[in-house]
Amino acid sequence: MNADFLDITILGSGTSTGVPMLGCHCAVCRSTDPRDHRTRCSVLVRYGEYHIVIDTTTDFRQQALRAEIDHVDAVLYTHAHADHVHGIDDLRAFNMTSKKVIPIYGLPTTIQSIRRTFRYIFDGQVHSKFRPQLVPWPIGGDFSLCGLSVQPLLLHHGDGISCGFRMGSFAYVTDCNQIPESSLARLGQLELLIIDGLRHRSHPTHFSIDEACAVARRLGARHTLLTHLCHEVEHRRVNSELPEGVELAYDGQRFRLPLQQAGMPPTGSDY
Ligand SMILES: [Zn+2]
Ligand SMILES: [Zn+2]
Ligand SMILES: [Zn+2]
Repeated sequence: MNADFLDITILGSGTSTGVPMLGCHCAVCRSTDPRDHRTRCSVLVRYGEYHIVIDTTTDFRQQALRAEIDHVDAVLYTHAHADHVHGIDDLRAFNMTSKKVIPIYGLPTTIQSIRRTFRYIFDGQVHSKFRPQLVPWPIGGDFSLCGLSVQPLLLHHGDGISCGFRMGSFAYVTDCNQIPESSLARLGQLELLIIDGLRHRSHPTHFSIDEACAVARRLGARHTLLTHLCHEVEHRRVNSELPEGVELAYDGQRFRLPLQQAGMPPTGSDY
């Protein structure tokens, strides 16, 4: 099944605590603007009838209900931090309804860490119907998924690494404070770039808003969205101060993109 476009839904735009943050009474945590209510960071990529989820966050079940996701064909993991993985058990509902296993993809270290943390899912014991049926695929390079070419992009996330993903004219680059040149080189000609932009102040493992804007300027995507936002970021005010072409992401936001940027040759042959 092929389509000429990708549908992207922001399932969550928040940092690891979510916004509001438990126990906090700051102005953003008390905001009545729905764009200041941020579940943990994730996106849904729809391509034709296929649904690819990037990360199963702590909020995954609520995100799937809100976005009316009725099946999941694959999960891509950026890295194994709790906010990006800990909704993994809720995938089992989709196993039950679709009667299919779900492939999960991540860097070898990410898959190793998920296997270790969620040993009950992968230990091959009985009572298997009470846990997710997942097939782990450690990523070794570009791969094909649901008819799409997926380019993994190595990212620096403090002392650790995470994995960005490019599919056609879309790229998702969260949880990073530096992008190696080899990954930047694969981020040209984008319709939509979603990039980490935690807050104004600098942070040891995430891009600040200014740092993310500098990357956005260099890459020149048609639209850039900042995600993984914390409670220091008030949507209405901060969004109005961003450079042209850059916006803050918010939960539930949707985009339809041409699979390849208009006027550009397909990048598939360059992979
Ligand atoms: Zn995170
Ligand atoms: Zn707060
Ligand atoms: Zn992280």
